[in-house]
Amino acid sequence: MSARILSGIELAKRMLDGLRTEVAQLNPQLVIVQVGHDPASDSYIRKKMESCDAVGMRVQLMSLEANTTMEAMQSLIHDLNDDANVSGYIIQLPLPPHLASVQPLLFRSMDPKKDVDGFTAYNMGKLLLSKEFEHLPPATPAGVLSLLDQYAIPVEGKHAVVVGHSNIVGKPLAAMLLNRNATVSVCHKYTQDLGAITRQADILCTAVGKPGLIRGDMIKPGAVVIDIGIVRTEDGIVGDCVFDEVAAVASAITPVPGGVGPMTVACLIRNTVTAKKRQQ
Ligand code: NAP
Repeated sequence: MSARILSGIELAKRMLDGLRTEVAQLNPQLVIVQVGHDPASDSYIRKKMESCDAVGMRVQLMSLEANTTMEAMQSLIHDLNDDANVSGYIIQLPLPPHLASVQPLLFRSMDPKKDVDGFTAYNMGKLLLSKEFEHLPPATPAGVLSLLDQYAIPVEGKHAVVVGHSNIVGKPLAAMLLNRNATVSVCHKYTQDLGAITRQADILCTAVGKPGLIRGDMIKPGAVVIDIGIVRTEDGIVGDCVFDEVAAVASAITPVPGGVGPMTVACLIRNTVTAKKRQQ
């Protein structure tokens, strides 16, 4: 079997094109807060800003020194919450260690209505209620679901296996798949015999960041494989799957790069439009 390639590039472009009219009408603004410099973050931020430009959305990057204190961050968050000109903002992760250790406190200060990354407890909690309450879903899981929708890949009744249970990808993705009536299994570092579970998946979503973790013999023939992992190696950017092996068994697979990544950015921009609409 040779898998169909589920590219996210064209889909994301179409999604952004579809937002252009609303962006022009609503004139939302996204603010990106970056603390210190991380090469991967720099590249993600560049892509986010380029996509905002492409859709005509105002975007502002606030670059803060790596030694910014928690108090200064709290003060900035309050300013952003109060600024009616800011529709949504994100705090680009990862934060430097002294802020990463207080990340939950920082997120708790964010106005959920402006939390366009969907990382605060309020937006995560709403997402658990049902599909109808996914108002500001985390961008990467939302990107995965949009990609499945756009390729008309049914989710209801399928066994979806999610590998990775982080708060920003694995857990919300599992909840969103459940909201669409998939039977969901979630695997992580402590899962015993990972392959025995991934081989049951009709839809396998992997979000770990370990190249080579998912091999061809861990795939059910004909499965749909969504590789969310992004790792920079000497050979370029790769995902969690051994691509050629997995593509030989699966019916469809996302490439890395060019799969979930562009959809994530498009969903962040969609969330900013939604935030602005809900604030009015
Ligand atoms: P993370 O917070 O490091 O989470 C990784 C998850 O993988 C954790 O739940 C971890 O379990 C689990 N894990 C580690 N080793 C494992 C193993 N051997 N078998 C099964 N599970 C294992 O990372 P993240 O933020 O969720 O991101 C995951 C990957 O997705 C990264 O490569 C990241 O760059 C990528 N990503 C891509 C996009 C995109 O737009 N495409 C967006 C966000 C993230 P424990 O917690 O138990 O250690």
